[in-house]
Amino acid sequence: MERVATKTDLEVLSADDAEIRDTDIAFSCPFCGKSLVIDYRGAGLEVRCTECGKEVLVPIPGGMELADLDLDTNEVLSQLFATRRNYQKAEFQIRLLREKLVQMQETLGVMQNVIAEGLAQS
Ligand SMILES: [Zn+2]
Repeated sequence: MERVATKTDLEVLSADDAEIRDTDIAFSCPFCGKSLVIDYRGAGLEVRCTECGKEVLVPIPGGMELADLDLDTNEVLSQLFATRRNYQKAEFQIRLLREKLVQMQETLGVMQNVIAEGLAQS
């Protein structure tokens, strides 16, 4: 099922009324901020924003090179999925670090109270 990416079979849609698939690229219009979504094969193409009508460049997902788009569809797909997995892992780690930060801030608060009480008593 190899398909060549052409502008004609790639339609950019508003993220509000489009069903976002795993293989879609979601991005914002740099001119009006509208959330847009397009098939991953649209990466690096210029499309017309559904909201303001300006030509916008579809971003290439992180970790993906434009040259990769010439690869076989399955290969591009597996790269896209790998990129998404890495992204999700990174997000998970950020969440863990945030929780740690909150815990450390609480500990710091307790320690500051103890010090303040100690100083008040001395
Ligand atoms: Zn726009």
